[in-house]
Amino acid sequence: MKNLDQRNQIIEYSLKLNSTNLSPLRSGNISLRGMENDIEGYLITPSGKKYETLKPEDIVFMGLNENEKNDLTNKPSSEWRFHRDIYRNKKGAHAIVHAHSPHATAVSSHGKPIPPFHYMIALAGGDDIKCAEYATFGTEALSKNVIKALENRSACLMSNHGQVAFGKNLEDAFELAQEIENICHQYTIALKLGEPKILSFEEMKKVLDKAKNYKKG
Ligand code: 13P
Ligand code: ZN
Repeated sequence: MKNLDQRNQIIEYSLKLNSTNLSPLRSGNISLRGMENDIEGYLITPSGKKYETLKPEDIVFMGLNENEKNDLTNKPSSEWRFHRDIYRNKKGAHAIVHAHSPHATAVSSHGKPIPPFHYMIALAGGDDIKCAEYATFGTEALSKNVIKALENRSACLMSNHGQVAFGKNLEDAFELAQEIENICHQYTIALKLGEPKILSFEEMKKVLDKAKNYKKG
């Protein structure tokens, strides 16, 4: 089977979506940039399948210019549009994790960006974490909103829905999604205590400069 290693890696991380509580049951989806028959595209989890039942052949390959998948026995995730558009728009995106993680989803229901109440906000690439405007799941409109919220960022919230993160590989994208969930957890606690103090633009600029050299393995 083509791309067997990548298919198995997607299954491994899909199971982790459940075991780490990042996304319960069938929610969320995962993809990896890849090639099949000389066509540039991505491998993506199928729609509506429980992760514990996934087999390598269930993972769907989609070309970057492919706009429909007529093979009904092997339907790609309903969110293939934003996965495709992230790969089209972001050169550094090689893997994408979308999750309905509890705290990120709760914060997303406020439809607002997360301000720098903690310097770790910088992990998403800037001095706030944007929230994509709400649109029905699986639509072109949602994809457009996600791409807008990901401008100069590698992760964002999706209003009344969840979060999405991308990275240079699946390990990084998954870790970033976990960090976003942690940040949202901390933010919900901070909000319970009143209005948190927000770091200044100048301070966040310093943090963003320092963060460039932070991650070592
Ligand atoms: P899929 O099973 O179609 O990937 O849908 C899950 C989801 O999170 C939709 O937003
Ligand atoms: Zn979703």
